[in-house]
Amino acid sequence: FKESLQEIADVVPMTLDHKLVNLHANMNSVMEIDQVLRNGASGVGLFRTEYLYMDRDSLPSEDEQFEVYRHAVKQLQGKPIIIRTLDIGGDKKLDYLPLAKEDNPFLGYRAIRISLDRKDLFMTQLKAILRASSYGSVKIMYPMVTSLSEVRQAKAMLEEAKQELSAKGIPYNASIEVGLTIEVPAAALIADVLASEVNFISIGTNDLVQYVLAVDRMNESIAHLYDPYHPAVIRLLKHVIDSAKSVGIPVGVCGEMAGDIRALPIWLGLGIEELSISVQTLLQVKHRLLTSDAAKCKELVDQILTCKTSEQITELLALNEQADE
Ligand code: PEP
Ligand code: MG
Repeated sequence: FKESLQEIADVVPMTLDHKLVNLHANMNSVMEIDQVLRNGASGVGLFRTEYLYMDRDSLPSEDEQFEVYRHAVKQLQGKPIIIRTLDIGGDKKLDYLPLAKEDNPFLGYRAIRISLDRKDLFMTQLKAILRASSYGSVKIMYPMVTSLSEVRQAKAMLEEAKQELSAKGIPYNASIEVGLTIEVPAAALIADVLASEVNFISIGTNDLVQYVLAVDRMNESIAHLYDPYHPAVIRLLKHVIDSAKSVGIPVGVCGEMAGDIRALPIWLGLGIEELSISVQTLLQVKHRLLTSDAAKCKELVDQILTCKTSEQITELLALNEQADE
């Protein structure tokens, strides 16, 4: 099966009724670029930069980061890469950057909150990303945004980083695109407001599901309650996607749910145009996409949105899958 999947790596990712869906790859390290290319990804929809900061004993310098980002950009040969700024805290720790002990780390000092607080650290990363942007198609994405004020602060720091580079005559793409992840319920509810401030948004379902359902994604004793098919999640996803569309900016999905074959009819029915998936499942999703009908998925989603339980939703999805076989 794997070998036959390889044959569709270069096929245009389009549904039977000609809806194009960009299939990007998630990447945790530049070592994965070969796989990204081999699996025919149209770009990198999420580069998790925290792994650059982990497994070492000091912060990576601007030059070190620049080299990694530039390498990735060059290897991608014009395909776009969305570089997400540092997302530590929560479950991800750095030994050399001791953070105060927290009772609720997932509700604590993490991601953009750290970046806005530790300007030194953030500016270093922003400058490294900007420098890499003169070598290809680079976009910046801010994680765990909760309010408009956070986006504006991050954008102001990006402007400052640009000015510092300009003053030194260092090249960068002055019109680099900026986006943010929607993974906090507050951000999802004001997605239209946040979307008006950026060039694109991407839904991080891993965290969004945990926060919507108040279910710690790392806690095994409640893993059965971690349910991406809960009607509250589906309704919120629809709200976010509709909000982005009303503002006229692209919206993608970068959480694990993007690579869940079962969820594909939901994404197609909600009108998603970009999925960012781990390379391991990218071709399986593509295989299903090529034999899907987006208009039928839209009808299915209309039905799903009337469901009262996740059991009803997964049952509808299962019936739909059988009908297609
Ligand atoms: C997410 O939360 O869905 C996401 C893509 O980010 P991470 O899994 O790195 O938290
Ligand atoms: Mg996340």
